[in-house]
Amino acid sequence: MKTVVSGIRPTGKLHLGNYFGAVKSFLQMQETHNAFFFIADIHSLTTHPTPADLHSNVHQVLAEYLAMGLDPEKCTLFVQSDVPQISELYTYMNMNAYLGELERSASFKEKVKTQRNNVNAGLLTYPVLMAVDILIHKADVVPVGKDQEQHLEMTRDFAKRFNHMYGVQCFNEPEAYSRTGKLVKVPGLTNNGKMSKSGGEGDAIFFDDEEKVTHKKIMRAVTDSGPETMNQEKPEAIQNLFDIMSLVSSTDTVDHFDALYNKCEIRYGDFKKQLSEDVLKFISPIRERIQDIKEDKSYLQQVTQAGAEKAKSSAEATLKEVREIIGFRRFY
Ligand code: AMP
Repeated sequence: MKTVVSGIRPTGKLHLGNYFGAVKSFLQMQETHNAFFFIADIHSLTTHPTPADLHSNVHQVLAEYLAMGLDPEKCTLFVQSDVPQISELYTYMNMNAYLGELERSASFKEKVKTQRNNVNAGLLTYPVLMAVDILIHKADVVPVGKDQEQHLEMTRDFAKRFNHMYGVQCFNEPEAYSRTGKLVKVPGLTNNGKMSKSGGEGDAIFFDDEEKVTHKKIMRAVTDSGPETMNQEKPEAIQNLFDIMSLVSSTDTVDHFDALYNKCEIRYGDFKKQLSEDVLKFISPIRERIQDIKEDKSYLQQVTQAGAEKAKSSAEATLKEVREIIGFRRFY
């Protein structure tokens, strides 16, 4: 059975982009793979969250993962910081990662521009920690969004380099996995990039927002004065709304509004009302489960403890091998 590893940073609530870009693949892969899914809380330290925020964000994502259907009986669901072996392997792998390649990473270059006052070493070595998350469980496949493609390439480089340096076949070279054969990008409601937490007020549809907040966001999504010629191409903002609709609505509904658009008869108010209704139909049951699960502290304790044990045992097996390969051999 092939092994899959993937995680999400706990930087707030999860949105439709996280679900369709990542969690939906997790749900399928927990059925078919030896699956490790985690909450990347060590990664999130690069942005310096307060201790209270860090904990509540981990709590939030954990409840959301479970509410969306991740099943601790089928996958290993764990919190990254519960597995100290990750930090140990990160120390070793940092010795074989070079400044030039780390500085060339697109995400590092972007952070240097966007968070000039906090260009910490953790940001620079972020791809090493990500590689360790994957390599420590000897993953074969990693479901990632387009934005992570380069990091996976670096993971393969680090794995090859380690194997070559010590003349071993310790690490696999994991492949990117995409459910549809194409890496998914869910658009946002307000900007023309991908849906994201940092996309600004009203951009992301969060699972744990109140229904009226979600409804308002959708009704406020910018449209235009409507199509003027039959079968004209849709401008990006309109296409984005259709793209979101195709994720949550039936094909009949999408076809219905598409036909109205093509005949220049679409009324955006009706279109957005339908979109809001279908989005809420999709997220509301999950939202209710999030609330219940969040309050069930003993269940969360049991899930994270069992996940930590399984993840530690898998990580320790790799680390034992790595320590031996490197030359850490005990005298006692
Ligand atoms: P982030 O919230 O940026 O840490 O992303 C967590 C996971 O969700 C990663 O696997 C991303 O590739 C995926 N993801 C985030 N936003 C989107 C989006 N708008 N479309 C598709 N995938 C996304």
